Amino acid sequence: MTPESQSTPPQSVNFARLHKAVRQRLQSLKRAGLTHLNPPIATDWDPSKLPNTLASTETPAVATPIPPPSPANVSADSMTQKTTTPESPEKPMPSKKQLQLDVVCQEVAQCTACNELATTRNKTVFGVGNPNAKLVFYGEAPGADEDRQGEPFVGRAGKKLNEIIEAMGIQRKDIYILNTIKCRPPGNRNPSPEEQANCSGFLQRQLEIIKPDYIVCLGAIAARSFLKVTTPIGELRGEFHTQGKIKVLCTYHPAYILRNPSKKRDVWEDIKFLMKDMGLKIPKKYL
Ligand code: SF4
Repeated sequence: MTPESQSTPPQSVNFARLHKAVRQRLQSLKRAGLTHLNPPIATDWDPSKLPNTLASTETPAVATPIPPPSPANVSADSMTQKTTTPESPEKPMPSKKQLQLDVVCQEVAQCTACNELATTRNKTVFGVGNPNAKLVFYGEAPGADEDRQGEPFVGRAGKKLNEIIEAMGIQRKDIYILNTIKCRPPGNRNPSPEEQANCSGFLQRQLEIIKPDYIVCLGAIAARSFLKVTTPIGELRGEFHTQGKIKVLCTYHPAYILRNPSKKRDVWEDIKFLMKDMGLKIPKKYL
């Protein structure tokens, strides 16, 4: 017991000195690396219970604990994508192009320009793929599977298209896939010229956002609709057509290959022609 404590009874504790001593101790601990105190200490702190001389002083460190350093709040940019946890998954920010496409997609979902299609569809089929794709595959119109799932080329013809894409050494996520119209014509009939015209604005906006270098029109409907011609598909295929800065190649529709397997060779010749121009390496087994 110090002389000072002997001469000073507990009832007359000097709170100003006590507060100063506590603050100095806390600052010392903070310099030593202490970042926070246990909650009971913090929650027990009630300035209103202190003498007036202390209640108005700056709130001590215990009331504003410094968050402990952890991988999640380290500020290095490189850590941002690596600190995801199952409880709080961080999704990559959508790109500007994807956000622009999302706007068009929302408009498509509410479109009723073609009365018959809008009243019979299950889902609109906007298009799918990489917003930065150099290559777009452009098909005819959604079928039953696409109408159910809201995604183009997911049925048998879709599987055939996937085979073509994989044979090219690329993946579906590397390209973009669209149709001439976004809603399924009942009974899988051909889309009418009026329906194609109604939907062309959406297509135009998608292509303006994606800015592909190449478009492959799959089948006569897509080829004629895109190039605004009436030429048979057999005469359109095998060469590039141009539409602005875009090189357009026409070939048979995957569904047509399923019905006419002998046409598979023609399609592959067209695809090899495309690959050469794109600078893609053709696998030896297909040479
Ligand atoms: Fe609208 Fe196109 Fe569907 Fe017609 S086909 S209702 S234009 S989204």
